Amino acid sequence: MLVILWDPDTLLHQTVELLGSKLIPALESPERLEAILKALRSSKYELRTIEFASPQDDRRITRLLEFTSATHSPDYLQHLRDIFQTWLDAGLIKQDGHVLPECFVYPTTTGKPLRPPKDPFARAGYYAFDMSSGIMSDSYKAIVASANLASEGTDMLAGFANLPNDIDTAVALCRPPGHHCDGQRAGGYCYINNAALAVSTWRSGHPEAKVGILDIDFHHGNGTQEIFYADPRVLYVSIHGEDEFPYYTGAADETGNGDAEGTNINLPLKVGSSIEEYLEKLDYGQQKLVDFNPDFLIISLGFDTFHSDPLGHFQIHTEDYEIISRTTRHALKGIPTLVLLEGGYVIDQLGANMLSFLKGWNSG
Ligand SMILES: [Zn+2]
Repeated sequence: MLVILWDPDTLLHQTVELLGSKLIPALESPERLEAILKALRSSKYELRTIEFASPQDDRRITRLLEFTSATHSPDYLQHLRDIFQTWLDAGLIKQDGHVLPECFVYPTTTGKPLRPPKDPFARAGYYAFDMSSGIMSDSYKAIVASANLASEGTDMLAGFANLPNDIDTAVALCRPPGHHCDGQRAGGYCYINNAALAVSTWRSGHPEAKVGILDIDFHHGNGTQEIFYADPRVLYVSIHGEDEFPYYTGAADETGNGDAEGTNINLPLKVGSSIEEYLEKLDYGQQKLVDFNPDFLIISLGFDTFHSDPLGHFQIHTEDYEIISRTTRHALKGIPTLVLLEGGYVIDQLGANMLSFLKGWNSG
């Protein structure tokens, strides 16, 4: 059985970004999720509303932060929570303003440890790697709600949620997305790595479990790679645009460290690649995941592979998502699967693309 989870608080986050030398409303917008919800509401699929409402439930926020802290530095999480108010109190910003970085961390040869700047204005750059991850008044609420969907979805699959345990697929309509966040820096519209949080949630009941992550967003999931690069019990497979954002990661020779050598598989594809070329990479990645034999599977699902996406450029059309999901499900059937929403920016096609993906999954 497949369930789809969303939280109304994830619609609250609406910020700005610097793109092509212009400051614009971020392409990662609430309208993306609204388009998917509209399509799902007039479909046969069950949509469950999860309301995190953290101030009323200390136990849930404590548990969520404990799992998040396994892969994210506590000072970074504190920064996400507090920086908007800090800027507001310091008069750096108005209530309708956005925290954006100015100066980023850069490599030095001093050998000194990196320290967060004392100046709160400068701190935004210490905890980010680009200018697409602004923070506005309600961002933290949405970030936590999004992360919570990943955790709740995992609980349902793991049988922790006091529900009849016939759920084998949970689709978490996360927003903001997660795969670019490395646990200490926001970037690429991502603030908490939802996939990493799902792994921590799963491991709370299955400490020795093996987890497979298939990342089919157009962009390389640099954050997910970074977090699990030395973890031999997580196999990360990513198919993404070669030499595209986030630019400094995603090469095929990034294969994992130490014991984890071979558990990081990057499958870069040239911009403009056809669905046939894409399916070849997917087939290879699926086979690696089958060989790894994970206990739990996470799919980082981005629809920015769509042919007319402003941020991605493969020749993939709506009907192709059905093939992508069917073959994935067919190859990895029987493994509890959490699907996490990542990118995708052609708003009027997102609903159709999600329905196509779900149709393929159910027939796989
Ligand atoms: Zn993307």
